[in-house]
Amino acid sequence: MLEAKDVVVVGGGVVGCEVALFLAERGNRVTLVEMLPHLAVDAEVITRIELLKALGASSVRIMTSTRCMDVEGRRVVYLCDADPRTSELHPEYIVFALGTQPNRALFDELSGKVQELFLIGDAREPRKIFHAVYEGALAATQV
Ligand SMILES: Cc1cc2nc3c(=O)[nH]c(=O)nc-3n(C[C@H](O)[C@H](O)[C@H](O)COP(=O)(O)OP(=O)(O)OC[C@H]3O[C@@H](n4cnc5c(N)ncnc54)[C@H](O)[C@@H]3O)c2cc1C
Repeated sequence: MLEAKDVVVVGGGVVGCEVALFLAERGNRVTLVEMLPHLAVDAEVITRIELLKALGASSVRIMTSTRCMDVEGRRVVYLCDADPRTSELHPEYIVFALGTQPNRALFDELSGKVQELFLIGDAREPRKIFHAVYEGALAATQV
């Protein structure tokens, strides 16, 4: 097994939670920092229940209502809602899981060069599997 590392995951949406769990299950010391009072608020209800259960049973140190204010090298400055003073963490690794953006570079490059082009799924707008499958099926009916 690889040597355990100190990791701070910034962002406790579904992606940050899954990353934190993944790293903790492999023996790393993980702290999860989320500015909202609750984790994985963007997850579907069943996924969320299972994810929170797994996180609760894991070694992940959870810091909700905690805002990451600054990162400089390996220094993470944070502010808890309950404390007006900033504090710091000094992990070996920092993972940012602060949201998603569509990547439509290939679509833009091919626009006007091919006869029919569809922009679907997360490339159109990052959402859920349902939307990608639905838009894929819809595109297929138009081919
Ligand atoms: C950690 C995480 C957890 C998630 N959990 C859930 C969940 O529980 N429920 C839910 O509904 N949704 C969930 N989602 C969202 C869901 O995964 C996406 O909405 C869905 O996968 C989007 O499908 P897609 O086909 O548009 O994109 P993707 O599934 O990302 O597929 C795009 C594919 O295109 C490939 N690709 C990219 N560029 C090129 C290229 N130039 N040439 C060839 N191939 C290329 C990529 O390698 C990838 O395989 C989660 C997302 C993440 C990141």
